[in-house]
Amino acid sequence: MNHKTIQCNFCGKIGNEKEVFIGGDKGASGEEAFICKTCMEFLYQSFAGSQDIDKEEVNNFDYIPSPKELKAILDDYVVGQERAKKVFSVAIYNHYKRIMSRGQLDDEVEIAKSNILFIGPTGSGKTLMAQTIAKALDIPIAIADATSLTEAGYVGEDVENILTRLLQAADGDVQKAQKGIVFVDEIDKIARLSENRSITRDVSGEGVQQALLKIIEGSVVNIPPKGGRKHPNQEFIQIDTNDILFICGGAFDGLSEIIKRRLGKNALGFGFEKKEKIQDDTEVLHMVESDDLVAYGMIPEFIGRLHVIATLGAITKEAMLSIMTKPKNSIIKQYQKLFALDGVNLVFEDKALEKIADLAIARKTGARGLRTIIEDVCTEVMFDLPEMRGYDVIISPECIDGDAKPLLIKKKTKVKGL
Ligand code: ADP
Repeated sequence: MNHKTIQCNFCGKIGNEKEVFIGGDKGASGEEAFICKTCMEFLYQSFAGSQDIDKEEVNNFDYIPSPKELKAILDDYVVGQERAKKVFSVAIYNHYKRIMSRGQLDDEVEIAKSNILFIGPTGSGKTLMAQTIAKALDIPIAIADATSLTEAGYVGEDVENILTRLLQAADGDVQKAQKGIVFVDEIDKIARLSENRSITRDVSGEGVQQALLKIIEGSVVNIPPKGGRKHPNQEFIQIDTNDILFICGGAFDGLSEIIKRRLGKNALGFGFEKKEKIQDDTEVLHMVESDDLVAYGMIPEFIGRLHVIATLGAITKEAMLSIMTKPKNSIIKQYQKLFALDGVNLVFEDKALEKIADLAIARKTGARGLRTIIEDVCTEVMFDLPEMRGYDVIISPECIDGDAKPLLIKKKTKVKGL
């Protein structure tokens, strides 16, 4: 064999007299493929190493979807928020790659865990992103509200109870729970300087941040399997939080002012151009740094554990319209299915959808408000739904205002899909 003419298809090395190259069958291209000794050894070690990993332990992640595939999953359900979806997809990929990589390559290099912080207004899709990925990858998820948490011994819920919930979401499978996702909402409400604390709570947000920090940074926690308060005679289950992905979410009202102040200071002497650019709040939030969050009242150690920060923008009217109709399980599609199951066609006029979007924006609850508004309009019709087989129900803008009832038209044709 002429060694000069062969090349390793993995690293590109040209063959020589001394080194063994192994050739494979001719593939679709009609060309033989080669692998050099170095690449062969590397692959052997990778595979031999990976056999040490207990597949059960990695929650059967034989395959981790690429960031592009993860983003495509998110695109099916989450409208807009392009930047956040990208950041999140990469973070998820890295998190599970970190778990999978144990025993591979250089084991002395331990990849640090990256928890995630979502910053964005209420109803902008923070929880939805976490839920979508958890569902698609079949990972258990526990969602908690930071305002209900306290340090142990105070009125409220112990931080460990989040892990109990995660274990329940994993049907009691500890290994599965240990690779799960914990989403802690309203994290901004436990900021040190927060004025939103409930009066019944005599514990500072800082104490809760400290308690959360312990589980977020990765430790073995004793949890009561059924939740509730810990007591001495109770049996505990040990949960190792090292591979649990923690996602914290919050609106952080007023954070943009802190960022602007910092940027304003730095911008001094650079003319007006920079100042004008930072007017848009969403753009400002993208420039957040750990120090801004510390100034907001988060403790530095806590923020230091949330390496990945993704910011989400407020939902615009256009996005509201898309959210109602485009995602795979959009709210309108869900209601149309509910109606179709009774043989009824539900039709929203375009202007009615616009009215709903305007109303949701006015209520300042983000896209979360859409469901309430649609539910309100549909409830009365749904009361009579089982007797309405074969009808079209038309929702006009006046129905949204409450000035008219939905129009009912008896149809001769069969309802699609039934
Ligand atoms: P939050 O940002 O407060 O966590 P959620 O993710 O819980 O908000 O959003 C509440 C609901 O609003 C979701 O269940 C979903 O129906 C809708 N929603 C919010 N943002 C989006 C979005 N970007 N795309 C699609 N639906 C959204």
